[in-house]
Amino acid sequence: PRPIEQLNSALQDTSRKRESVQVKNAVVHWFKMDLRTVDNRALFCASQKAREAGVPLITMYLVSPQDFEAHLVAPIRVDFTLRTLRILREDLAKLNIPLYVETVEERKHIPVRIAELMETWGASHLYTNMEYEVDELRREAKVVRMLAEKDICVEVMHDACVVPPGRLCSGSDPEVLELCAQPLRNAELARRVFGQLFNSEIPMTVRNKNLADEEAGRLRALWPAGEHEAKKRLDAFCEHRIGHYDRKRNLPAEAGTSSLSIHLASGTLSARTAVRAAKDRNRSKDPNARSEGIQVWISEVAWRDFYKHVLVNWPYICMNKPFKPEYSNISWSYDKAHFVAWCEGRTGFPMVDAAMRQLREMGWMHNRCRMVVASFLSKDLMIDWRMGERFFMEHLIDGDFASNNGGWGFSASVGVDPQPYFRIFNPTLQSERFDKAGDYIRKWVPELCGIKGSAVHEPYARGAGALAKKNGYPEPIVNHRVARERALAAYKKGIERG
Ligand code: FAD
Repeated sequence: PRPIEQLNSALQDTSRKRESVQVKNAVVHWFKMDLRTVDNRALFCASQKAREAGVPLITMYLVSPQDFEAHLVAPIRVDFTLRTLRILREDLAKLNIPLYVETVEERKHIPVRIAELMETWGASHLYTNMEYEVDELRREAKVVRMLAEKDICVEVMHDACVVPPGRLCSGSDPEVLELCAQPLRNAELARRVFGQLFNSEIPMTVRNKNLADEEAGRLRALWPAGEHEAKKRLDAFCEHRIGHYDRKRNLPAEAGTSSLSIHLASGTLSARTAVRAAKDRNRSKDPNARSEGIQVWISEVAWRDFYKHVLVNWPYICMNKPFKPEYSNISWSYDKAHFVAWCEGRTGFPMVDAAMRQLREMGWMHNRCRMVVASFLSKDLMIDWRMGERFFMEHLIDGDFASNNGGWGFSASVGVDPQPYFRIFNPTLQSERFDKAGDYIRKWVPELCGIKGSAVHEPYARGAGALAKKNGYPEPIVNHRVARERALAAYKKGIERG
C-alpha cells in the first residue's frame, strides 16, 4: 500500500479507541513544517480541544538531524527553521502556550520519544499536520498505532495544500480548506503546571548544517524568518506587484515574483492564506490590482499543490525514479568537470552562470532560470538530472522535495506533465528573451559587467571574447547545436530501450 494508505489505515484501525480517549492533563500540538500560529489546522483543533476540556495546550518541535541529512536540507534552510522557532516560541509564550524543543539524534526514535513525552506530561491528545513524503507518512502511521496502544489519541490533519491530496476529481468541486484563526490563549495555570517547558533551549545550529559567519550574516539579512515577515511580504506583494505578475514573472532582473517560497515551504505562511489574500485583492478597484496578474499567481501556487498530490499518489518518485518509467534507460553523463562547471556557474553560458551564482549567493533562484539551468544540465550536458535535483536541495532555502522533483522532471522531460524531450531550451535565446538588456547577467557575473549591448549574452561569439577572457570568464564548455543533437539522439535511444 502507498504510505498515505498506511497512515489512513492506522487512523481507521484505531478510530474507535482514539474516540474513546478522555482528555487528561494537556493537549499537544507537534509542529513540523507548519511553523506559524495563524491558519494552522492542527494547531487550531488542538487548541479547541484543550479549551473545551479546560486543560493547557502544549506545543513541541523535535529537531531531527538525521531527517535534515536524509532530506538534504540546505544549511540556510536549517538556519531559517531555527530562527523561526525562536520567534514562534516568543509569540506562543504571549498566549501562555509553551513551545518545547528537543533534539532527537536518531530519527527512528521519534515515535518512542513522543510517547514518552506525552506520558511525562500526562497528555492524552496529540495533533499534527500531515507531511506527504514517504518516510514521514510511514512515521506518522507508526505514531498513531503506538500511541493508540497507550490510550493516547493522535489526529493527523491535511494542512499544507489549498486542496488536500485525494480530494480532487475531474468534474467535481474541489474541497478547499477553510482558514483557521490563531490558537486560543492558555489560562495562567499553564505557566504554573508546565513552567519548565517555556524555557527549553533552541539550538543555534545542527551538526553538518552550520553556516560560515559571513554567510550567516548575509543570508539572515536577506531572508528574515518567521510568520510576521511572511505576512509582511505577502501584503506588500499583493499591494504593489501581484497585478503585474503575468507580465513580469519571467524577467529575472526584476522583482516580479513574491519570494514567498521559503515561507510556503516551511509553513510560516499557509497556502490558503496566500490564495485568500490574492482573491481579496482581486476584488479591489485599484488599477494596480489587475486580475490577469492575480489569476496567474494563484495558478502558480496551484502547481505547489499539484506536485504534492503527485507525490502522494506516485510515491515511487521519492526513490530516485523518474515519473515516466519509459525514461529510466537514458544514458546519462557523469562528467565531473562539466558538473563542477555547472555548479560553480562557469559554463561559459552567461544566463546559466548568472543563475547558478544567484543560487549560491542567495540560496534562491528565479523560476525562469531554474528551468534554464535544469534544461542545460540534463540536455546540453546530458548529466543525470538527479545530480542537479540534489544540488538544488542542498542549496535552496525553499528546497521542497515535491516541487523540486516536479521542476526537475518537467525540465529534464522525465516527470509528470513534462516539457517534451525534443523541446530543448537554447540558453542564449532564453537570455536574450528574458534578460534582454543583460542586467541580470551583469549583476551576477561580474566578469561580464563591462560588456556592452547584446554581446553580454554570448561574449565569445559576438566580439567581446578578449574582454571576457581578460576578466577570467570561461569559453562555452559545449557547443549548443552539437549538444542538442546529442541529447535528441540519447533521449530517443533511451525511450526505445525503456
Ligand atoms: P512566485 O512566482 O511568487 O510563486 C508563488 C508560489 O507558488 C511560490 O512561492 C511557490 O510556492 C509556488 N510555485 C510557483 N511556481 C511553482 C512551480 N513551478 N512548482 C511548484 N510551486 C510553484 N519551488 C519550491 O518551492 N521549492 C523547490 O525546491 C523548487 N525547485 C524547483 C526546481 C526546478 C528545476 C524548477 C523549474 C522549479 C522549482 N520550484 C521550486 C518552483 C519555483 O521555481 C519556485 O517556487 C519559485 O521560483 C519561488 O519563487 P517565488 O516565491 O518568488 O514564486
